Amino acid sequence: MVAKLISSPSNPIIKDIKALEMRKRRKETGLFIVEGLRSVIEGVELGATLKYIAFHAESAEKPELQKCVEYCEKCKGLAMEVTSEILAKLSHKDNPQSVIGVFEQRLSSLKYVDPQKSKCWVVLEQVRDPGNLGTILRTVDAIGADGVILVEQCCDPYSVEAVRATMGSVFSVAIVQTTRDDFIEWRKGWAGDVIGTTLQTSVDFREVTPKGPILLLMGNEQMGLSDALREITTTCIRLPMNGRADSLNLSVATGIALYAMLEPWKK
Ligand code: SAM
Repeated sequence: MVAKLISSPSNPIIKDIKALEMRKRRKETGLFIVEGLRSVIEGVELGATLKYIAFHAESAEKPELQKCVEYCEKCKGLAMEVTSEILAKLSHKDNPQSVIGVFEQRLSSLKYVDPQKSKCWVVLEQVRDPGNLGTILRTVDAIGADGVILVEQCCDPYSVEAVRATMGSVFSVAIVQTTRDDFIEWRKGWAGDVIGTTLQTSVDFREVTPKGPILLLMGNEQMGLSDALREITTTCIRLPMNGRADSLNLSVATGIALYAMLEPWKK
């Protein structure tokens, strides 16, 4: 295992990695930061391109870490042994992770979504909260759905906060980006049900057994699902609100609707 030793937090490579906290820089480079050995291993096992791995001397002997470093070399990336101070700078936590990876992003487009081979896609319209987006990616992975389609301006699935919330699922779930107009056009070729979720319907989610493959449409945290997307659904469902809260958190609503729609259809 060959690793470069870096001890200065002002090293240009460390500064470049730190700059990936900015969306603009992630867009320019196509790279993103992953914190923690467990999530880095997930990326390695799923064949994502690893450009940098930074680790503390304490982790150097771990066989899993050594596997990641060898993989980084195969990807023509750079492995670096760094100080606690550098890891703290890169992971802004009081208790920083002892391993940081920098991977290439894998954003996809609608032309790679094959309805014939699909089971279920979650469609998020203008999702704003990275914690919600990361949690939804993790849930999509857990239930074994195909992926997420991000419609219009959404928060970045590769921000540190979103990636952290995915707990490694950022590597196993397909992420597609599109505009509202392109999505509406593309939806015309979808043979299965298109389920909208909204508070503005009286259809209880338990009354619906969808015909697959499914598109599950979720609205923005403040504005809900737009009229334009509501108009292209085959049906809209509501999760009953029995207390004083007027709506569910987006990621919670996605989790409940996803299990409710996908599980009966699989049987
Ligand atoms: N003020 C927004 C509205 O009136 O739609 C609330 C948006 S809610 C926080 C974000 C998204 O979560 C909604 O667009 C919908 O997709 C989903 N959602 C939340 N609670 C829901 C419920 N009880 N039934 C169906 N969908 C729900």
